[in-house]
Amino acid sequence: SVRVRFAPSPTGYIHLGGLRTALYNFLFAKANNGKFILRIEDTDQKRLVPGAAVQLETDLEWMGLSPDESPIKDGGFGPYTQSKRLHLYSKFVQELVKSGHAYYCFCSDRRLEFVKKEALREGAIPRYDNRCRQLSSAQVEEKKQQGMASCVRFKLSPLDEPLQDLVYGNIDRSAVLHEGDPVILKQDGYPTYHLANVVDDHLMEITHVLRGTEWLVSTAKHVLLYKAFGWRPPSFAHLPLILNPDGTKLSKRQDDIRLEYFRKQGFYPEAIIGLLCLVGGGFSPSIDIQQNLHSLCELAKAFNLGIVTTHSGRLDGPRLEYFNRLALQNRINRPEEIDKLSEELFRLIHDKIKNSSLDKDMVKKTSLLKILHWASNGGRINFLHQLTDSSMGFLWNSQESTIVSKIDPSTARNVLIRVIQVLNERDRIQKNEVTTMLGKIATEYNLKVKEVLKLMRSSLTGLKEGPPVSEVMEILGPQICANRLGTSLN
Ligand code: GLU
Repeated sequence: SVRVRFAPSPTGYIHLGGLRTALYNFLFAKANNGKFILRIEDTDQKRLVPGAAVQLETDLEWMGLSPDESPIKDGGFGPYTQSKRLHLYSKFVQELVKSGHAYYCFCSDRRLEFVKKEALREGAIPRYDNRCRQLSSAQVEEKKQQGMASCVRFKLSPLDEPLQDLVYGNIDRSAVLHEGDPVILKQDGYPTYHLANVVDDHLMEITHVLRGTEWLVSTAKHVLLYKAFGWRPPSFAHLPLILNPDGTKLSKRQDDIRLEYFRKQGFYPEAIIGLLCLVGGGFSPSIDIQQNLHSLCELAKAFNLGIVTTHSGRLDGPRLEYFNRLALQNRINRPEEIDKLSEELFRLIHDKIKNSSLDKDMVKKTSLLKILHWASNGGRINFLHQLTDSSMGFLWNSQESTIVSKIDPSTARNVLIRVIQVLNERDRIQKNEVTTMLGKIATEYNLKVKEVLKLMRSSLTGLKEGPPVSEVMEILGPQICANRLGTSLN
């Protein structure tokens, strides 16, 4: 049965590139009734970021991409953190040394530098010259006796069978011929990525390796390692590059591609997933991923490795905002979510607006729910926090507003008094009723409707622009409107 893994190195916080790899692995696992495994590749001890490994798992959970097996969810193939598997790597490295596929290398950093410089000088590719391959076992013993530091290197050889990638098809396997023998066990006793990755994928019974296309060139090396061990390699599927909206490559140091950056701004995981699905293909046209959001389950059903694209794809920022609006709408229309949203909104309002000017009636739960539906279904907001922007402040703010109007002051007063009278007779008012009412009153006073609307807007919201007056009045309700108009009279 299918087993796939997401194998990040905890050298930083998760970003869109890593998330896409995780997402596609997750979907492929779900589509095939398989297992999705999280493995932490922390063998590069110098580049570790404290806390990053734990955060990774929290982030995956937040995205809804829960692994079936992980450092905190044992599935019988653990440990799932490479630094806890050192004994395994050293055992397998010994095996390769014994079978003649690997050898000890005693070259000093200085010599390695020198060899590379020489090669450069001669116009060749700077690489290790494989000198220690030649050492006899007696020489190796002697150097060890002398206490010389060593690493272990893997003997590269031509790969004589074709290399197939499920996405890219035939892979160039000649690249390995131009490289020096790679280190597989470092002087500090830690394995390098290549060795640990191959050993773990084998021991964890990984069937398919789905990873970023930057690893395509390493695949031949990995397959050679599998062969040296006498193991069957998994299938490989490399995923196309993601580019920034301007076509530049994503960089690990780029803050605005980190998950945290999006989360802080109020983006929902569904929206981020929607965005990622648009970059690399892989979804059958049976679902419309351009215009709509889909559950992970629906995405998995439509997912097909065979139609993942090979060309790189750009991120579409505006689309992400649009998707977030959809995500917010979906949540608002879900009974189990709306309570949480209204509580969150309540908190946001309190953080932003002084208690003394808060309109207590508007932050009652019933009002909050009404506003949530109004704002989201009307497509007025992409984020919840936009409801506390200054343009929406009138919803919560009961502060007095002064009348700004071209209508002469005494007529303006009379109009307001008239509107208050009408409002006082009602429990609720709908926007079309507002329009009719204001139209009638305008005729009564021989005014242009536009002027009356302006008068109402400034008296109710203190703003020159904003949502239509009819909607403002519907959403505030007759009582609050009457109160506010009353205070503006004083
Ligand atoms: N640890 C590697 C990374 O950080 C994993 C590559 C792979 O999936 O083989 O991307």
